Amino acid sequence: MSSSNKFFRVLHQSKKSKARVGQIITQHGIIETPNFVPVGTNGTLKGIDNHSLSSLDVQLMFSNTYHLLIHPGVEAIEQAGGLHKFISRKHPIITDSGGFQVFSLQSTPTEEGVFEGESPRKLIELKGQSKNKAHSESLVERVSEDGVTFRSYRDGKLLQLTPETSVTAQHKFGSDIIIPFDELLPEHVPMTVIEESLERTHRWELRSLKCHLELSKQCNKHQHMYCVLHGGTNLDLRKKSMDTLLDPSCFQFRDTEDGLPNGFEGIAIGGSLGSNREEMLDVLKFTYNYLEEKIPQDCFVPNHILGIGDIASMKSFIELGFDTCDSAYPTRLARHGNLIVGAASGNPTTLSIKSSASLGMHDRPIDTTCDCPVCSGPDAYSVAYLHHLFKMSEPTYITLSTIHNVRQMMIWMKTIRERIKNDEL
Ligand SMILES: [Zn+2]
Repeated sequence: MSSSNKFFRVLHQSKKSKARVGQIITQHGIIETPNFVPVGTNGTLKGIDNHSLSSLDVQLMFSNTYHLLIHPGVEAIEQAGGLHKFISRKHPIITDSGGFQVFSLQSTPTEEGVFEGESPRKLIELKGQSKNKAHSESLVERVSEDGVTFRSYRDGKLLQLTPETSVTAQHKFGSDIIIPFDELLPEHVPMTVIEESLERTHRWELRSLKCHLELSKQCNKHQHMYCVLHGGTNLDLRKKSMDTLLDPSCFQFRDTEDGLPNGFEGIAIGGSLGSNREEMLDVLKFTYNYLEEKIPQDCFVPNHILGIGDIASMKSFIELGFDTCDSAYPTRLARHGNLIVGAASGNPTTLSIKSSASLGMHDRPIDTTCDCPVCSGPDAYSVAYLHHLFKMSEPTYITLSTIHNVRQMMIWMKTIRERIKNDEL
């Protein structure tokens, strides 16, 4: 089974569920799907460098435009020859628009680093927790139809994000996959406000697309833009978002003759997916079912779930037919003393390194079936040693635990792809 699309092809459709195995083909290489996309906010994952990341078979890395705008800025990255050269990564990169962060950080602490590396959904949670902190202060100066003007949390410098500035920045970065500028749909606000916000997000996404198509033509290069579906937990609005953004006037279902884009080429599922897993699954099931109606039968379109990538949620994504999702989950988990084990079995769980019982585990690596440099070979590090490094807050602990957790996610995804190919999932 294959499709004629040069950007995305489906290699196998499971006979058991909607799960599928495919390939996203970019100028910097192939991304096998389903796949997990770790978040390297500032052009790096916390604790490991990009060369190590590539050796762990991380095929797609997520970076945040908002943070890269604040430092080092678009010009510095452009002068370096693009983001891949600047951060010394040969493989594909996806960047977001900056919209989510700028809206998430509307009234959050101004201390540098407080929110770095956190997923958008975690940001909402943190923002809620920080409401009463004395140093809370709005960084957003103005929101208009044009875009958002805000102050850098780092040095107070005035910055502007519009659909055009965001897409131009992502073009200059040379990102393989670009996310259009969107508005974070507020929660717990009147329906009229939600509807207005959705309409504006759609207008911003279409302006982003226009800018992307013009820049692609000028540079004669093929970067790929996904649309971002919004609508929160309201299924009517979700439907409206899909009707608007998957309209053939703005969505590219088939290859163009000149190879240059003429529409959105993938689907990112964004916005609030509710406050618990049940709500999230209701929205996702509705979305995936409706997408089947909207996408012509002989066409294949890659989809990406924005900002969710914990093991429990991902287990439920597989049968829906998800292709990629991003999260800071394995890196955050590692920093907090939790290590992923059992990925090779297809059913990963976590092991806490915090317990003193770990001290007795001198002869045991974290996972005997893991092929990461921490667990494998005669010099494998023991659980006891990792426990010691964690307790002493050694930076080396962050490096070793992050290498292991990220590799576990990659092993899990490979196992999942094999099981889908065998129609076991
Ligand atoms: Zn390992």
